[in-house]
Amino acid sequence: MNKNLENQIKEELEEINQKNLTRKIDNLRFVTSTRAIDENGKEYLVYGTNNYLGLTHHPDVIKSAQTASVNGTGSTGSRLTTGGTFEAHELEKNISSFKATESTLLFNTGYMTNLGVIYTLCKKGDVIFSDRLNHASIIDGIKISKADVKIYKHKDTDDLERLIQEAVEENKTKNLTNNTQNNTNEENKTENENSQNFFIITDGVFSMDGDIAPLPELTEIAEKYNCCLIIDDAHATGVIGKTGKGTVEYYKDKTGTDLTPYVDLQIGTLSKALASEGGYVTGKKIYMDYLINKSRPFIFSTALSPATLASANTALNLLRENHEEYLSALRRNTRRMRELLSAGGLNVVEGETPIIPIIIGPAKLAGEFAQKLEEEGILVSAIRPPSVPDGESRLRLTIIATHTIEEIEYTADIVIRIWNELKTEK
Ligand SMILES: *Cc1c(COP(=O)(O)O)cnc(C)c1O
Repeated sequence: MNKNLENQIKEELEEINQKNLTRKIDNLRFVTSTRAIDENGKEYLVYGTNNYLGLTHHPDVIKSAQTASVNGTGSTGSRLTTGGTFEAHELEKNISSFKATESTLLFNTGYMTNLGVIYTLCKKGDVIFSDRLNHASIIDGIKISKADVKIYKHKDTDDLERLIQEAVEENKTKNLTNNTQNNTNEENKTENENSQNFFIITDGVFSMDGDIAPLPELTEIAEKYNCCLIIDDAHATGVIGKTGKGTVEYYKDKTGTDLTPYVDLQIGTLSKALASEGGYVTGKKIYMDYLINKSRPFIFSTALSPATLASANTALNLLRENHEEYLSALRRNTRRMRELLSAGGLNVVEGETPIIPIIIGPAKLAGEFAQKLEEEGILVSAIRPPSVPDGESRLRLTIIATHTIEEIEYTADIVIRIWNELKTEK
């Protein structure tokens, strides 16, 4: 028994606790897509799910999970050893058709997709250019890979281009030194230059601030410097774009240009608008063939269950059939909540997505605010360091399509009242 380790952990937990930053799990049961009860039976209105279209409780989605379970609850192994399920294949075809891409590969979570794509494709000597506010799973994928990383300022394409030019220059110097050392080894030179790849990786919709990546500029830079462009549309698919296809469609609506061919890989999750669990990557088939052969998170983990995949597939079909209805409700709710909170004097970060950050400042105050709301039966998450910088703690509300306007107005009233109470107390 290692007493030393236990003592170190104990100290660290105490430190976290002193800063009021201890994380704990609250057990909930969702009785509808917007309402949940705790273990004492107290009911809450929830503004913290990623269930953007509320499809987790759609009868067709539930039914399809039940029906698929008849063929076994688990997938019983990796798709390469045990055989892939029909449900997995069907869902992959459906995602490719939805995103207008050649091919799709499923992973077990969005998190694993980023790991499995990034550390398989990005090799030693490659350079990854990563937005400062990218999701933790992108950061972890980069860490596991042996590639170099350069972090550019959030959505700052000038900073990105500057870093790329720096890397190009560094590279030239490196090749020069190599060549003088190897003395006119021409073959070696071409191999070095050709084997190094540049990657640009970004969230489509950023998970903490809800803002949108500057995709048109990113595709231009990727073309100019021959970079592989990867976009993680976890919070974008089923949320932005006229029919919910995500960031590419959002810009097509705005500019008329379809950027699909300029984005090498789009990553997504089944756990947000698609009301299930799992992740996927979609793009050219050659990438999928490579990942099937090389990606360890794909190869060495048991595939998702038929029920999980069937429910995601049904949710996707519902989105494809009813996008107008779902997305107009989502947008109406989002606009209304943003309007009401801003008018009530809260410091709402402007934007158009259903992720609504309210900047509070001190971590303790944000925690108290969330606690008071919880007492009133409203669940909102307080985002504190290390998720955001010191002094930028916030409440983060996510709005979904199945909130009613009455729920939105009721909630905004309470949020504003409590904020005024907290302010006068200070
Ligand atoms: C939620 C999220 C993920 C992780 O997806 P899971 O399916 O929950 O593992 C990855 N990337 C981004 C940008 C996300 O927001």
